[in-house]
Amino acid sequence: QEVLYMKILALNSGSSSVKYQLYDCNTNSLISKGLVERIGIDGSFIGYTIYDEKKKEHFTCPTPTDAVNKIIEIITNKDNNLLKDINELKAVSHRVTHGGNFKHSVFIDDNVYNTIEKLTIFAPLHIPHNLAGVKAIQKLLPNVPQVAVFDTAFHQTMPEKAYMYSIHKKWYENHGVRRFGYHGTSHLYVSRKTATIMKKSHKDLNMIILHIGNGASACAIKNGESVDTSMGFSALSGIIMGTRPGSVDPTVPLYMMVSENLSVNDVYDELNKKSGVYGITGKYTDRRDIIKAAEEGDKDSILALEMETYYLKQHIGMYMATLGHVDAIVFTAGVGENSPDIRRGALSGLEELGIILDHDVNNKTMSSSGETLISAKDSKVKVFMVPTNEELIFIEDTIGLLEGTYKNSQDYVYSFQK
Ligand code: ADP
Repeated sequence: QEVLYMKILALNSGSSSVKYQLYDCNTNSLISKGLVERIGIDGSFIGYTIYDEKKKEHFTCPTPTDAVNKIIEIITNKDNNLLKDINELKAVSHRVTHGGNFKHSVFIDDNVYNTIEKLTIFAPLHIPHNLAGVKAIQKLLPNVPQVAVFDTAFHQTMPEKAYMYSIHKKWYENHGVRRFGYHGTSHLYVSRKTATIMKKSHKDLNMIILHIGNGASACAIKNGESVDTSMGFSALSGIIMGTRPGSVDPTVPLYMMVSENLSVNDVYDELNKKSGVYGITGKYTDRRDIIKAAEEGDKDSILALEMETYYLKQHIGMYMATLGHVDAIVFTAGVGENSPDIRRGALSGLEELGIILDHDVNNKTMSSSGETLISAKDSKVKVFMVPTNEELIFIEDTIGLLEGTYKNSQDYVYSFQK
């Protein structure tokens, strides 16, 4: 039972920020979490919590490695009373954005490290930072096992017809070009949590999960497994996001490269950072700003909302056709959890398909409400808001790997909370 008395650090290293969470598996609680911002630029700082106390500290942080060093300093600081000694820290799990064909979470050894490194070409903005986190921990705590949890793994169950693109087959064979899908830990967590609320086995349920945050993706889940998802080779495609466009005719970037003499990097930047609702409004990524501006009559913001909800609705329709029968539609992540307007917009006009919102409940429901049924009694398809909890998957998988009971995230999920 020693394994129960342990603490696990989950790290999520990005290009300009590093997030962490420290879990006490004994009390099943988060005892510290934080976010380092403005890495590599002036004014780096970390905002964090020690139990319930909020803190903020400015420090010099040129690289993600410095951010990880700072995090270790905070969690090992005796005054913070988080770890009695470093041996209490039994593992560090890393969110790895791209897992290629990894089907589940793994301990990181040299072999795994090298395999992940080779995937950099698929996710150049993310993988180097994920690996910098791994390296930093290795240096500071060489004896602590490290685990990789991949955003793509949950979608490895997609059938060939869903993950292949209808392009020259050699692009797949020689370069691995296919749909991978992202937000996998969120789609997995939310779908299993929904099954427990519905008091059914996930194996008997079909769902459409709408993860709408800054990044956004839809997932069609059949009998508990991902059978299709809206993000693809990269995290650009599908529904409209904060700064990414969702699906765009592939000729558009080519045409713009020629018309404005743009480089590959220019276009990459345009599509990753200047599109989506930001592209449409020219100023906002935060949907709260857009909703407010739309209420005040700003035409671009009205259009951005119309387009975002239209794309969501189209994906619901598409996945209803994919699944044939849908038991539940579930909204999650920043926007999905907190925006009654966007949920209402996405579902309006779908009554004939058996999707009927309870408007009073929807209007009152936000993340802090916890899991909530927001459909009307006579709605054939149940609609839920379920706050996501990706970190729980990181922790569960890591415990499973340490205990030697882990086979894959899908078998293990949820046993942790019993
Ligand atoms: P990510 O993890 O992809 O950065 P989140 O899931 O944290 O994103 O979602 C962040 C987004 O949630 C913000 O950009 C904001 O638009 C949106 N959001 C948060 N609260 C609300 C709200 N009350 N109404 C509308 N949108 C909200």
